[in-house]
Amino acid sequence: MTEEKMPSFMRSLCMGRIEQDVLLPFPTMRDGDKEMLQGVAEALSSMLGAHEEDFRRWDREGEFPSEYIDELKEFGAFGLIIPEDEGGLGFGSMAYSRALQEVAKYDASTAVTIGAHSSIGMRGLKLFGTDEQKKRYYPKLSTGEMIAAFCLTEPGAGSDAASIATVAKRDGDDWVLNGNKLWITNGGIASFFTVFAKTDASKRGGMTAFIVTTEMEGVSVGPHEDKMGLRASSTTTVNFDEVRVPADHMLGEEGQGFKVAMKILNSGRTGLGGGSVGAMKKIIEMATAQASERKQFGQAIKDFGLIQQKIGQMVVDCYAAESVVTLVAGLVDAGHEDYAVEAAISKVFATEALWRTADEGLQVAGGNGYMCEFPYERMLRDCRINRIFEGTNDILRLFIALTGMNGVASELKELASLRKSIFSHPIKGFGVLSDYATKQAQLRTGIRAEGTHFTRLVPELAAYADSFEDATRELATATDRVLRKHGKGIIGKQFATRRLAEIMIDLFVWAAVMARVNDAIAAGADDAEQQREILHVFAGAATKRIRHQLRRIDDNDDETLKSVAAHAFELGRFAWDTI
Ligand SMILES: Cc1cc2nc3c(=O)[nH]c(=O)nc-3n(C[C@H](O)[C@H](O)[C@H](O)COP(=O)(O)OP(=O)(O)OC[C@H]3O[C@@H](n4cnc5c(N)ncnc54)[C@H](O)[C@@H]3O)c2cc1C
Repeated sequence: MTEEKMPSFMRSLCMGRIEQDVLLPFPTMRDGDKEMLQGVAEALSSMLGAHEEDFRRWDREGEFPSEYIDELKEFGAFGLIIPEDEGGLGFGSMAYSRALQEVAKYDASTAVTIGAHSSIGMRGLKLFGTDEQKKRYYPKLSTGEMIAAFCLTEPGAGSDAASIATVAKRDGDDWVLNGNKLWITNGGIASFFTVFAKTDASKRGGMTAFIVTTEMEGVSVGPHEDKMGLRASSTTTVNFDEVRVPADHMLGEEGQGFKVAMKILNSGRTGLGGGSVGAMKKIIEMATAQASERKQFGQAIKDFGLIQQKIGQMVVDCYAAESVVTLVAGLVDAGHEDYAVEAAISKVFATEALWRTADEGLQVAGGNGYMCEFPYERMLRDCRINRIFEGTNDILRLFIALTGMNGVASELKELASLRKSIFSHPIKGFGVLSDYATKQAQLRTGIRAEGTHFTRLVPELAAYADSFEDATRELATATDRVLRKHGKGIIGKQFATRRLAEIMIDLFVWAAVMARVNDAIAAGADDAEQQREILHVFAGAATKRIRHQLRRIDDNDDETLKSVAAHAFELGRFAWDTI
């Protein structure tokens, strides 16, 4: 099987198939990247470590001084993913994600400034740019002489990105751009913008991507937004007033802007994932130190079960997040094409694992956690946005389930059309029909059909592999059942869709953890047993969550809950009081 043809793990899983080649061997960093990264991580650590007090001040002031941005430029922080012969470090996805981990340990505003530049701002150039465009902009983007930003969101178009109102009209050799973009990260410091504008008014989502620079007349930015978190990072409006953009500034093809935007976001997800993992590692470091030093009731609070439960769970969450982000980065580096669902899962899981960790870390620190003197509260504020930007986790859940189910839906569709033809040509459709029926029967009875079980895991993981396979069969039958029940109407059944998404998220993360632990055991790693314990906890909890979600497919209070919400919407307030 060629890399390009490797199927999406989750799409296959929804049909009951386990694509071991996607998981195993668990990806490792390219040799060249590893050596380079070691040096970069150490240098980053000493540069950022020197600013720890400054980060707290800049958060309060709500802005980075320009000297600090210059320091990042001099360091080469804006050239992480730009090829070496163009002046960058040439990092692959895994090394890039790991570098952002290091940055996020110190400061999320810095991580998002670098991330918005590399993950989304200039990624369109990397993925879709012509040789000429790359030649023109790579050198400046790599030194930070030009900082990049990604301009999609507008006042009327957030999650529904296809509804943007910014327009580009062709006029001779130029496109003329008019419109306003909202909450653009790096807006105030960028001079290179990847801008999405409507070029076909007759079509929803008929948009095109353009490279726009501040050298072009009519580009302006609004004031620095005052935010809950990431306060030092620049967030502004970016406005386009009769901006003439030469036709050779188009990114990708005319009318393909929506696809360009989605590919950029998919490809850049491991940046945010890496940042989330870095912040979790820092919180675990702070919380273990705090719990070891703090004494109450005559003993260190680390000796209390409730504190141990929190720290243990943080470690499990961090290991799981790192595993899933690394697995997806490995898929990107290996040249896989079909990883959008898996990348979305890694974003949802890593950002929520960080949120839980930041919350529990603050709890371990008690009152200290609430004081601005310590970094806990800043880290909690900073990471809240991760669940909103680059696609809200709610929208991504819908995307994960609906896209994951695609394969099953097309098989069912094919089946429906074959059923019709069977009456006239009973033999023609028989093979496919019986194939599908056999597959379904195997799933229901648990018969081990080829491709539905693990054959490459070490024997020590047999029990986890068995429960994973059981859960996979349940997912496949549940997907089939839900699709048969709702058909195309599934789009409007968000309660049901979300349940399937939760199962898919748990299964993909479980698979990532299992693959990583497998390779650690196979390699005889000294700490393999500790890693197996993490798998044990994750797999046990995931199994319970999956069972719960499966039970709720048919036995739920969805309609009653909708009725409760309808009542609140009708009144526009909470209905009751005790006076
Ligand atoms: C600090 C910050 C930095 C940002 N940086 C950038 C940037 O660099 N570039 C850029 O282009 N954008 C950026 N954004 C914008 C960000 O991507 C959007 O905020 C995000 O996409 C959500 O859009 P929205 O805020 O308009 O929420 P809305 O789309 O209005 O959503 C509001 C709520 O409704 C839910 N919802 C919406 N539609 C549905 C549906 N169909 N079904 C169920 N639930 C639904 C959402 O999940 C959400 O909970 C940034 C935002 C912030 C706050």
